[in-house]
Amino acid sequence: MSERESHRVAIVTGAGRGIGRAIALSLAADGARLLINYHSNAEAAQLTADQVRQAGGEAVIVRADVGVDADRRRMLDQAGEAFGPVDLLVNNAGMAPKVRADLLEMSEQSFDEVLATNLKGPFMFSQLVSLHMIEHRADFGDRVTPAIINIGSISAYAASVNRGEYCVAKAGIGMMTALFAARLAEHGIQVFEIRPGIIETDMTSGVKEKYDKLILEQGLTPIRRWGRPEDIGRAVAAIAGGAFPFSTGETINVDGGFHLRRL
Ligand code: NAP
Repeated sequence: MSERESHRVAIVTGAGRGIGRAIALSLAADGARLLINYHSNAEAAQLTADQVRQAGGEAVIVRADVGVDADRRRMLDQAGEAFGPVDLLVNNAGMAPKVRADLLEMSEQSFDEVLATNLKGPFMFSQLVSLHMIEHRADFGDRVTPAIINIGSISAYAASVNRGEYCVAKAGIGMMTALFAARLAEHGIQVFEIRPGIIETDMTSGVKEKYDKLILEQGLTPIRRWGRPEDIGRAVAAIAGGAFPFSTGETINVDGGFHLRRL
């Protein structure tokens, strides 16, 4: 990590568990001050905050639904009150559909719920935090390059017909990354998407056996192992640490090579 980009003030959504927790811990190792957001599992968020402090960071915990405007505003306000202007937003919170229904049977309610959490929330939060970063651009000076990192998915291009609403939301994250990158470059704000493959978390626990076979026996991914939350955490920390000063709008695949076409 470059000295210049250290001690970020970051909001990580959905940081109580899984990938979000690993992102928080990677940032904490570089001395970040973190707003740990969760939705319903307060105990897990508390554990993340404890681990963040042990790792060398600072933490405040905020319960908020990323799909709700007032909650997003409250997160930004509380981060500012605790640590000062926010220079990093990681849009990580996400949900799988509650029911994996075939495309022809999926309910409108599930579509709305998944889109609100996985696309509308991150989009509107990026807009809100962008305005905040532009307002505070002079405060950051040369110390840090403000950035937004979106956690997408291989589902942006791999069609799973039993969770179409999830795929559509993640495809939207791809364009959202391009849009904000193009718009914010003139303000010196970087925007990236990290595109995880199949990562071992609560989200994938229900399909563990299926993917054990596909990955370990059939070689679904050229690198024959499950992804770990830390794999994503390290990629976020690399961006946050200033490893890509002349890049924006990039999608970084952290997927064991899943995206490679093979013959
Ligand atoms: P996870 O273990 O299910 O954790 C989801 C996190 O998001 C939890 O912290 C949860 O909070 C939070 N969350 C859910 N809905 C929320 C809402 N409305 N407002 C605020 N927070 C909310 O999932 P994960 O595997 O770590 O996934 C993290 C991100 O990576 C998601 O965007 C997911 O789509 C993406 N991803 C995951 C995989 C994978 O294989 N696991 C692959 C590609 C992409 P609570 O703890 O309070 O419930």
